Order: sequence, then C-alpha cells, then structure tokens
Amino acid sequence: MTLCDRERCTGCGACAASCPQNSITMVPDEEGFLRPSVVETCIECGSCRDACPVLQPGAPAEGGTTAYAAANQDRAARLASSSGGIFSLLARWVLTQGGSVFGAAYGRDFAVVHRRASSLEELEALRKAKYAQSDLGGCFRQVKELLEGGEQVLFTGTPCQTEGLRTFLGRPYDGLLLVDTICHGVPSPRVWQRYISYRREQDAGGAQPVAIDLRSKETGWPGYSIRFDYEG
Ligand SMILES: Cc1cc2nc3c(=O)[nH]c(=O)nc-3n(C[C@H](O)[C@H](O)[C@H](O)COP(=O)(O)OP(=O)(O)OC[C@H]3O[C@@H](n4cnc5c(N)ncnc54)[C@H](O)[C@@H]3O)c2cc1C
Repeated sequence: MTLCDRERCTGCGACAASCPQNSITMVPDEEGFLRPSVVETCIECGSCRDACPVLQPGAPAEGGTTAYAAANQDRAARLASSSGGIFSLLARWVLTQGGSVFGAAYGRDFAVVHRRASSLEELEALRKAKYAQSDLGGCFRQVKELLEGGEQVLFTGTPCQTEGLRTFLGRPYDGLLLVDTICHGVPSPRVWQRYISYRREQDAGGAQPVAIDLRSKETGWPGYSIRFDYEG
C-alpha cells in the first residue's frame, strides 16, 4: 500500500487509526518523528488513503472564515495557560455538558501523549503547550466511538492532527468540536528527550524532573521562560 509521500506526511496517524487489519503502526523515524509503517497483513483495502488528510485535502471554507480575538477574564487561568486561556474555557464548557476533551499531556518521562479528560481534575494535564510531536495512541478511534454513541467531544491538537481526525472520521458529527493551535511545526520527540537529559545533567546532576513548564510567566508575559522542577 502506498501512503502519501514521506516529505508531506505529518505523522497524524489517521492511516493507522483507519486500518481494519491494524496493519499500520506509527514508529519513530531516524529523527524521532512518528511515521506510519505498513506490515504484510495489509489487504490493500485503501482505507488508509481515504483517511489521509494529505491525499484527501478538505475544501476551503465557503465564503471565507470569521476571526474573533478573545482572552480568558480569569488572570489565574491565563497564567496557567500558554496564551489567552481560551482552551480552558472551551474545555470546561464541554465537560460541564458531560462531554470529553482530548489534548496533549505529559506521559512517562515527559513524553508528549494525547489523552482523554472527562473531569476538571483530568483537564489540568492538558493545559499549556508542550513543544514536541504528541503520540495520539488510540485517541482517533476513541473519539469516533464516543461520537457514534452520541457524546460530545472537544479535540485539540496541531492543525495537522485536527485535519487528520476530520478525514479519519469521514463525515461531520454534531457533537464534535475541533480546536487547533497556531503552530509553526512540532519538534521531534527524540530532540525533546535529549533536551531533557541535557537539562537534568546541567541543573541537577541527572535527577529526574517532577514538573516542566515551557511557558512559565514568572519572568513576565513577553519574556516568558522555561521552568524545570526537580525532587528535593
Ligand atoms: C506544537 C505547538 C506549536 C505552537 N506554535 C505557536 C506559534 O507558532 N505561534 C503562536 O502564537 N502560538 C503557538 N503555539 C501556542 C498555541 O497557539 C497556544 O497553546 C494556543 O494559543 C492555546 O493557548 P491557550 O492559552 O488557549 O491554551 P493552553 O491551556 O495553553 O492549551 C494548550 C493547548 O494545546 C494543546 N497542546 C499542547 N501541546 C501540544 C502538542 N505538542 N501537540 C498538540 N497539541 C498540543 C493542549 O492539548 C491544549 O489544548 C504552539 C503550540 C504548540 C503545542
């Protein structure tokens, strides 16, 4: 099965999620970015090509789009967010309606992973930008299952990921809210892990960090900084 050209693949994983044979896995390439790899159980059904946002680009919105500028009125929420804290407002609204929110969190060893939040407590981990490609795991399939069951879902991610989810789903759902970030591109997860190792050695003699904030506002809003916290 021929997927989209490697140079144009964003690693969104829509192909892997759509495969009825589970013949596509997402594996790190030589730079550490997740890319699809097809194994021999592939029956060449073409589901992956239909789900690929590069091969099936969406039509531009008719009549253009309307832009609004807004910021969260709660200062504490803005400080706990990367930017204006609008994500938290949208997510809270969906959660109070009984829906689910999907976004990027830190997993084991601060690897960036997408996960579901169905409570305000779980939402905390999704706030703030993490600057590495996130592993979507089984999120696309989980989103589809929830939507098919009539539930409300807010999915946030990079524009490449939200577009991948849209083509994977293949049709609009009333319960779906797609929110993407303004994004100049995601760094490689391998570079991210190497940066963490470098900081551990430099800052704390190899100690494991307990928290990482890539958009700390302690040094001010325009001059925001990176903060690593270590045990002890
Ligand atoms: C990879 C990346 C690149 C960015 N590049 C720019 C840029 O070029 N210019 C700019 O102005 N802003 C950029 N941002 C910041 C982004 O636009 C803000 O996070 C956004 O404005 C949301 O801010 P907020 O305060 O509303 O929400 P926040 O509470 O900060 O929420 C951040 C949101 O981003 C999601 N997210 C975090 N990390 C990732 C990730 N690695 N992959 C996918 N989704 C993630 C979270 O799930 C959450 O929904 C980037 C963010 C990311 C994640």
